Amino acid sequence: MMENEATIRLAFFFGILVLVALGELLSPRRVLTMSRPIRWFSNLGVVAVGALAVRLLFPFIGVHVALAAQEQGWGLLNMVDLPEWLEVLIGVLVLDLVVYLQHVMFHTVPLIWRLHMMHHADMDIDVTTGLRFHPIEILISMVIKMTAIAALGPTVFTVILFEIILNGTAMFNHGNLKLPSGMDRVLRWFLVTPDMHRVHHSVEDDEANSNFGFSLPWWDRLFGTYRDQPRGGHEGMRIGIHGYHEPRQVSWLPGMLILPFLGKVTAYAINRRQWTGADEQ
Ligand SMILES: [Zn+2]
Ligand SMILES: [Zn+2]
Repeated sequence: MMENEATIRLAFFFGILVLVALGELLSPRRVLTMSRPIRWFSNLGVVAVGALAVRLLFPFIGVHVALAAQEQGWGLLNMVDLPEWLEVLIGVLVLDLVVYLQHVMFHTVPLIWRLHMMHHADMDIDVTTGLRFHPIEILISMVIKMTAIAALGPTVFTVILFEIILNGTAMFNHGNLKLPSGMDRVLRWFLVTPDMHRVHHSVEDDEANSNFGFSLPWWDRLFGTYRDQPRGGHEGMRIGIHGYHEPRQVSWLPGMLILPFLGKVTAYAINRRQWTGADEQ
């Protein structure tokens, strides 16, 4: 499984990418407002830059950390003797919780919000938005994830399974997909659906600071960050960040990459809010 890790993950990546993209063609939720070829070139381009940065700086990816932890006896799960299925379950749950908490932090700490802003600056949301993260954000996520793996000690299988789930659900829940509302309601109990995550891409501050989960919807419900629907409805809501509309900045690769280094941090970050209350609205 170790040797085939890259092949297995790539197969899932392209498989789910094509499936969601097809779904967007057949049953789109919103009319896209920006040029799709430019957005797709930029959003997929930033995936390539991020993948390259990770390969250059972190030849030791998650599975290697999991293997090292196993050999050295690091990590909680390597210290207890649990049935394998339970170890996989705990591993996936805890890693997903870490990703949730990390996402909350990305919205909270002003310097890190600058990086995460690039994900939110996309004025349309579709399958490629789910892959669009600033390379420095990806590197920070890698450090956090590897630290979590070393502390938890999940099996190599768990790490590969988790990566496939995270990558797949990120593409699915950013999909511009119109699912039957009954299906969305049922799915939402187990999985973050496109309608649930779209709320998180609203320009409205309170909506953007909701629904941080990527795979499991339970953390948002447990920690009180869950929000059912956007106020403006899924067709009417505005996607993106207040004040960021310039296509060269939000949907053109070089502009996207330098976005974190420009200007002031917006009022999204935790200590930049102005609590002027109702009169502001
Ligand atoms: Zn976010
Ligand atoms: Zn997102």
